[in-house]
Amino acid sequence: MTRHVTTEIAVIGAGVVGLAVAERLLAQGHAVTLLDPHPPAATVAETAASYGNAGTIADYAVLPVGTPDVLKNLPSLLFDRNSPLAIRRAALPALLPWLARFALQSLPRRAEANARTIAALLSTATADWLDLGDRLGGGDILKKRGCLYVYEKAAAFRAAATDMAFRRSLGVTVDLIDPATLRQMEPALPEVEGGAAFFPQAVFLDDPGRMVALLAAEVTRRAEIIATRADRLDRQVDGVTLTGPGLHLHARRVVIAAGAHSRRLAAMAGDRVPLDTERGYHVEWDMDCPPVTRPTCPTTRGFYLCPMQGRLRVAGTVELGGLTAPPSPHRIARLVEGARAIFPDLPEPSRQWMGFRPSMPDSVPVIGPSRAGAEVIHAYGHGHIGLTLAPVTARLVADIIAGRPTEMDLRPLLPHRF
Ligand SMILES: Cc1cc2nc3c(=O)[nH]c(=O)nc-3n(C[C@H](O)[C@H](O)[C@H](O)COP(=O)(O)OP(=O)(O)OC[C@H]3O[C@@H](n4cnc5c(N)ncnc54)[C@H](O)[C@@H]3O)c2cc1C
Repeated sequence: MTRHVTTEIAVIGAGVVGLAVAERLLAQGHAVTLLDPHPPAATVAETAASYGNAGTIADYAVLPVGTPDVLKNLPSLLFDRNSPLAIRRAALPALLPWLARFALQSLPRRAEANARTIAALLSTATADWLDLGDRLGGGDILKKRGCLYVYEKAAAFRAAATDMAFRRSLGVTVDLIDPATLRQMEPALPEVEGGAAFFPQAVFLDDPGRMVALLAAEVTRRAEIIATRADRLDRQVDGVTLTGPGLHLHARRVVIAAGAHSRRLAAMAGDRVPLDTERGYHVEWDMDCPPVTRPTCPTTRGFYLCPMQGRLRVAGTVELGGLTAPPSPHRIARLVEGARAIFPDLPEPSRQWMGFRPSMPDSVPVIGPSRAGAEVIHAYGHGHIGLTLAPVTARLVADIIAGRPTEMDLRPLLPHRF
């Protein structure tokens, strides 16, 4: 039987971005309905990127994935099965258009412009999360211990100085620390010859799934979450119709926040968006006392060691491989092997997970009205920093819906910017 629903604003997707947007709109008095085929509890536990990430509110992550350095090393990175940025060969033909745009966006001037846009978005992320965490009663999940990038070799540490100077020029606070200081901060890490970059103001969530569950609980107190998929989006003279299994919904406005699954819906709204996915993985070891006290990234390995509540989570790596292929056991094995290279006593992992980062070639999310009209608003494509940017995105979307001027220029974020 098909259910007919009429609402003011429909949000498609109940990951961290859709939930943060819904929470903000509800707080501003709007009537909101969310759609997600997985009810929030399942969403956070199983499928969505919002559950399994590294938990960093990465206000220091101002660099896009595509930079001149990455471009120079792209062939060896992509085709080395063991590199932290790999591609599934079967997915290569489908990925070529995305890769071509990615290469273009990695050129020096584009990469710098993208970094400036990302820095502008990130500038309030930590404050926004502290505020949201308090409102949700999840202040204890937000840990103010900073975050570390560790450089094993002295040459890599020296080379990082240029990267860090650029981050500073974009407002990031970072201290370069020597091996002795690193040892004091994280005594369980093996000694390194290089040093580390410490981002002292960064905060992290030591249980992103629990924080997303709190957000979902807050939203479900005041809005309905319909457990179905939006298969079709059609513009009407007086709004937008969404149809999916068992549902026919009419809304004055629709926010597309379906993460890596947003491209098809965006096309139905009239916007061709080069969204793809960077698959990421985590493995976890249950333990009372994780061996690091803050998210720590051994930079050559492309993952974070994350101290989560009651477990060590090792999360990261990039695999370009589309939305349908099963998880790659090789990527999991690489994570386990990398973690054991640092902590040799780790036993078999307690669990493993794969998620889909929603990724744009310029590493800039898509936030803003559709080219065809503001009945449809886009809010996806946050790549590596979607957890970080969820409350920032929510504020921008709420401003667009209220017709208020937004804090930042939306042009670099619009769906038709390419
Ligand atoms: C390994 C890894 C580590 C990461 N670490 C960090 C980190 O430390 N810090 C950080 O900021 N970010 C991190 N990220 C990125 C971050 O997790 C994502 O950017 C973010 O979760 C994206 O959120 P989202 O709500 O857009 O998408 P998702 O969480 O994927 O949610 C999208 C939702 O839309 C629903 N949906 C899909 N299609 C439809 C449809 N047709 N109709 C209705 N609903 C639909 C899905 O069921 C899903 O629930 C990491 C990601 C990975 C994979």
